[in-house]
Amino acid sequence: DASAGPIHMLFFPLMSPGHMIPMVDMARLFATHGVRSTIVTTPLNAANIRLTVDSSAARGLPLSLRVIPFPDPAATGLAPGQENLSAVSTAHFNTFVMALFHFQAPLAALLRELRPDVLVSDSLFTWTADLALENGIPRLIFHGAGAFPLFVLSNLVNYLPVEPSTESFIMNGLPHPIRLYKNGLPELVDNLFMLKLLGEAEAKSYGVVVNTFHDMEPSYVNYYKNRNQAGIKAWCVGPISLCCRAAVERAERGESSADRGRLLAWLDSKPAGSVVYVCFGSLCHISGPQLKEIALGLEASGKAFLWVVRREAAEDAVVEAEWMPEGFEKRVEGRGLVVRGWAPQVEVLGHAAVGWFVTHCGWNSLQESVCAGVPMITWPLFHEQFINEALVVDVMGVGVRMWEGFRRNRLEEAKVLVTAEEVVAVVGRLVGGGGKEVEAVGRKAKEYGEAARKAVEEGGSTYEDVTSLIKELDAKRKEGQKDV
Ligand code: UDP
Repeated sequence: DASAGPIHMLFFPLMSPGHMIPMVDMARLFATHGVRSTIVTTPLNAANIRLTVDSSAARGLPLSLRVIPFPDPAATGLAPGQENLSAVSTAHFNTFVMALFHFQAPLAALLRELRPDVLVSDSLFTWTADLALENGIPRLIFHGAGAFPLFVLSNLVNYLPVEPSTESFIMNGLPHPIRLYKNGLPELVDNLFMLKLLGEAEAKSYGVVVNTFHDMEPSYVNYYKNRNQAGIKAWCVGPISLCCRAAVERAERGESSADRGRLLAWLDSKPAGSVVYVCFGSLCHISGPQLKEIALGLEASGKAFLWVVRREAAEDAVVEAEWMPEGFEKRVEGRGLVVRGWAPQVEVLGHAAVGWFVTHCGWNSLQESVCAGVPMITWPLFHEQFINEALVVDVMGVGVRMWEGFRRNRLEEAKVLVTAEEVVAVVGRLVGGGGKEVEAVGRKAKEYGEAARKAVEEGGSTYEDVTSLIKELDAKRKEGQKDV
C-alpha cells in the first residue's frame, strides 16, 4: 500500500545559486518532516550539493539526489561546463534560459521512473506544468522571490508596456501605494513572451511555495494567499536559511569558502556592529570603474568593511589591476578585508561585528539579512532587485538606499556609476552612526529578526504552513489513489 509510506517530493531547481541554495534547503526542510525528498540536477551542480545531501542522508534524513545530463552545448550554444547561471555572462542569460527547455525529455523520463507524488519546480521551467498534469501529480512553483515582488510583478501586467525611462509611477491596489521607477523594473517586463508562459504555467499549477514568513510582509502574504479564484494556493516556507541552518553547516564543513577561518577570526577582532559587509550576490557583473569607486569609497569612509568581490564569469572578467587602487589593501590593512570569490554569507551576517549589509537586494540576501537582524544599505542592480528594495526601505523600514534607481538604464548594460563620494556619504553616516534614523532602522531590523525566529519554531506561522502543506499533499495522494 503506497499510501502508507511518506509522500515523495521531487525538487527541480533552476541552476543558479540564488535558486539552488534555497531549493536544496527546502528539500532538506521537508525531509526533516519525514517527506521523501529527491533533488534533480546536472553533474556539475550535483557536485556542489552532494556533501549536503550525503551528510543529511547519513543522519537518516530521506534526502537523495538524481543527476541528469546538462543539454549538449551543440544544441544550446553554451560552452561546455556552463551548467549554472553564475558561470554565464549577463549577455548570455537568455541563452541559458532557452537551454532549459531541453530538460523536458529527461525530466519526463524521470517522472515515469520515480513516480513522485509532487513536483516542486522552479517557475522558469514553465513546461513542467504540462508534465505534472500528464503524470497526474500536483506541481508546486518555486519563484525564488518573495510575496511582495511576486505581487508587484503580477500587478505590473496592468501597466505594460512600460517604456524604460527615468520617470516613476505609483502602483495602486497595494496595501501601501508603491513608487516604482520605470528604469528600476525587472528585465522581465521587456519579455512579454516569458511573462505569458509564466502566467499560463501558473494557472495549470497546484500552488506556490514562497521563501518568506508571514510577519515579514503580512499584507502581501495575505493577499498572495487569497488572491486567486483559480485556486492556486500559497504556502510560506521561509526563511529557509533559518529553517535548517544548512548554509552554516555547509560553511563549517568548508564547502563555501577556503577563507572562512581567516575571515571569522578577523570579524572576531572587531567591535559589535562596527563592520559593513558588502556583497552583491552570485550573478552580478560589476564594471571595473564601479569596483574602483566602491574601493575608494570604502577606504575614504574610515569604516571597517568586509567586501566580497565575485570572480567574474570568464567572458567579461575584469582584470583586477585595472580597478584595484594601487596599494589599496596595504592602506586599509586591519580595517578592511577583500574576499575574492565566495564568503559564507549566512555566517558573516550572523556575526555580532557586522552592523550593516550593503546588498544588491537579491531575495536570499535580503532574507538572510532580516534573519540576522542586520539593517541594509540597498544597491540593487537588475531583475526584481529594485522592487525588493522598495520592500526593504519603503515598506519594512529596515534599509537605506545607496542610490536612486531611476538613474540606471534598463536597456544598457553600462548603467550608472555610483561615485566614491556617494559611498562615503551613506556608509560614513550609517555604519556605527547614531541619530534617530539609524536607530529606528536598526531597531526594526532586530524586531524582524526576532519575528523570523518565531516563524520557524514549532507552532510558528512557517512551521504551520509546512506541516499543513504536507498533510494536504498526503490527502491529495490518497484521493488520487482512490480514483485509479
Ligand atoms: N552567497 C554566499 N556568499 C557569497 C555570495 C552569495 O553565500 O559570497 C549566497 C547568499 O547567501 C545567497 C545566495 O548566495 O544565499 C545569493 O542569492 P541572492 O538571491 O541574494 O542573489 P543572486 O545571487 O540570486 O543575485
